[in-house]
Amino acid sequence: MSTVVTVIGGGLAGSEAAWQLAERGHRVLLYEMRPVQSTGAHVSSSLAELVCSNSLGSKLPDRATGLLQSEMRALGSLLMRCAEATAVPAGGALAVDRERFAEQVTQTLSSHPNIQIRREEVTRLRLDEACIVATGPLTSPALADEIGRLTGEEYLYFYDAISPIVRASSIDMSSAFSANRYGRGEQNGADYINCPLERDEYYAFVRALQTAEIIELRDFEREDPNFFEGCVPVEQLAKRGDDTLAFGPMRPVGLTNPHTGRRPFAVVQLRQDDLAGSLYNIVGFQTNIRWGQQRDILRMLPGLQSAEFIRMGQMHRNTYLNAPALLCATMRFRAQPRLYFAGQLTGIEGYVGNIATGLMAALNLSRQLRGLDAWTPPRETMLGALCHYVTHADARRFQPMKANLGILPPLATRIKNKAQRRSAYAERANAAIEMSLATLDDDISKSSRA
Ligand SMILES: Cc1cc2nc3c(=O)[nH]c(=O)nc-3n(C[C@H](O)[C@H](O)[C@H](O)COP(=O)(O)OP(=O)(O)OC[C@H]3O[C@@H](n4cnc5c(N)ncnc54)[C@H](O)[C@@H]3O)c2cc1C
Repeated sequence: MSTVVTVIGGGLAGSEAAWQLAERGHRVLLYEMRPVQSTGAHVSSSLAELVCSNSLGSKLPDRATGLLQSEMRALGSLLMRCAEATAVPAGGALAVDRERFAEQVTQTLSSHPNIQIRREEVTRLRLDEACIVATGPLTSPALADEIGRLTGEEYLYFYDAISPIVRASSIDMSSAFSANRYGRGEQNGADYINCPLERDEYYAFVRALQTAEIIELRDFEREDPNFFEGCVPVEQLAKRGDDTLAFGPMRPVGLTNPHTGRRPFAVVQLRQDDLAGSLYNIVGFQTNIRWGQQRDILRMLPGLQSAEFIRMGQMHRNTYLNAPALLCATMRFRAQPRLYFAGQLTGIEGYVGNIATGLMAALNLSRQLRGLDAWTPPRETMLGALCHYVTHADARRFQPMKANLGILPPLATRIKNKAQRRSAYAERANAAIEMSLATLDDDISKSSRA
């Protein structure tokens, strides 16, 4: 097979994608701009450099990343194989010797007869070519401009300003209540879950925010004058004055607490985050507080004492697309049939999720070039749930998502015990991926499982 495919970006997603395509017989031109041009976070010229932690997350089979890792192994991922070959002791986590990991990926790709690596910044997309764009959260400004022109600038974002997400079933509704301000809207005016605070509770909460430990910004974020513009973190608002939040995101106007019959002193609102109504995000609570402290502080809120957090709040530099408006679940760009995106650009977060989208994009682009049907993993799998989430979330307020059990479809029966629930999700996912792969007419995935 002689179709030449361009892969832009030799990070996690791009390296996986290039290898998957090459193994399927395509000739691959892999563009990586380092070391000619740096991103500000990478420090080497190696492919698949891990920019921060050396951990690929929990490897326990009933945890979200562990599940995704096992699905990636079943699909024959090169980067998972390299991670296992260069693993270092890290308890229940899959951590790697970052240099050996990146060296092994670089070596494997450099010596592959079907892969040619060009150390060059790409600034233009050739829409007549089959191409996967995997230039990551720190995509070079020139290429970001080009992507913005293609997608429409309003569909390309440069920063995450993520509010925490809570599992709905863990909210204590004997303290919280459902209502919209002034009873407006649909669902009998009860779209929001409200956590009401009395005066003392409010000031104790504000003091906790004011003194919380913050995740330090990196140099390339600190130097950017646009960072945080338009979405000030909640702890910064708290530092502007004790009452700032009570007149801002925590204002109680238009709400009566049915448990007391009175208007609360302040309120924190949560808005439905998924179609099933199983997840709620905390409205206007973008924050950079360290995760452990963030969890403790948010559990001070009436109704959230035992909250299970699906995602913590965070703010960082991140280039990503409005995937629900632009991409199919196969990672194909809807408006250009031979253009795919992969990695953090798709709105899927985390090292393993990024590797996974590289594999998804490559597998599907290869299938398309060979005249085969597209393949999407079942939604019961972690990979299927992630691809579904980022391409079906509410496009009006899309924010990136990482692997977590909360985005899997609910189990047929409700299981209260957490450990048993996790096992049930994992067993269902393993069965689903097995069954789906058994029917997938793909030689590489089959041979990797042999
Ligand atoms: C500072 C930072 C820290 C992070 N820490 C973690 C963490 O600890 N754990 C975690 O799970 N996730 C982390 N992430 C999120 C994410 O998982 C990683 O960024 C991951 O590497 C993204 O994979 P990717 O393949 O999408 O992009 P990358 O791995 O960044 O790869 C993109 C590649 O494209 C190249 N490139 C960019 N523009 C061009 C161009 N125009 N032409 C050619 N090449 C180009 C870049 O040099 C880079 O090599 C972090 C992100 C950032 C920004």
